[in-house]
Amino acid sequence: MIISRQKEFNDILQMLREKNIFIIGCGKCAKKQRVGGEPEVLDMKKKLEASGKNITGWTVLSSACSITSWNDVLSQNPGINKSDALLVMSCGGGVSVISGFAGLQVYPALDTGSLGGVCCNEVVTEQCGMCGDCTIWLYGGICPVIRCSKSLLNGPCGGAVEGKCEVDERLCAWDKIFERLKKLGKLENIENIHEPKDHMKKSRVKKT
Ligand code: SF4
Ligand code: SF4
Repeated sequence: MIISRQKEFNDILQMLREKNIFIIGCGKCAKKQRVGGEPEVLDMKKKLEASGKNITGWTVLSSACSITSWNDVLSQNPGINKSDALLVMSCGGGVSVISGFAGLQVYPALDTGSLGGVCCNEVVTEQCGMCGDCTIWLYGGICPVIRCSKSLLNGPCGGAVEGKCEVDERLCAWDKIFERLKKLGKLENIENIHEPKDHMKKSRVKKT
């Protein structure tokens, strides 16, 4: 699941120069996180109308990042052709895919943060930073790239205070990595120096 959060409404208003706006939500990740499903799309519509915008229509696609036929989307949503711009309430993947089809200005209503998941019906954020060179097994299954504020592959940095990160007060990822490796009997993984990531792998993943 892609983890996103809604932009501040004033930031969205500042982006939107056009008057006639069509809103597109996403029925997958954004819906699950309650940032781009029907209730959020309707709430956005109400707020934009109250700010003087003309909403030509709205829809929630089953998955904004996976569109089989843009012609079908257009025929089911005639308001798109009456709009000057689209506001997409999905992750950046959805915004990018729709921008490729739409032929008009597309704005993101969300900020996309990381790859997460769902565990026992609870959304878990920051599970993967999509580095293209997965070494999460070295850290007991806790990814330092995304969960440590400094993305340290060899931690901890020593700045944590009472278990909280010195950067943004999250719980120190490296405390958790230590506890997890201890439980797994793999503490030697902390003593080993981990080489920097092979960034070539990321570019190879991008090409596939
Ligand atoms: S090591 Fe890279 S691919 Fe693996 S979970 Fe972390 S960011 Fe994702
Ligand atoms: S305190 Fe912990 S989470 Fe924060 S930067 Fe240092 S090692 Fe990373």
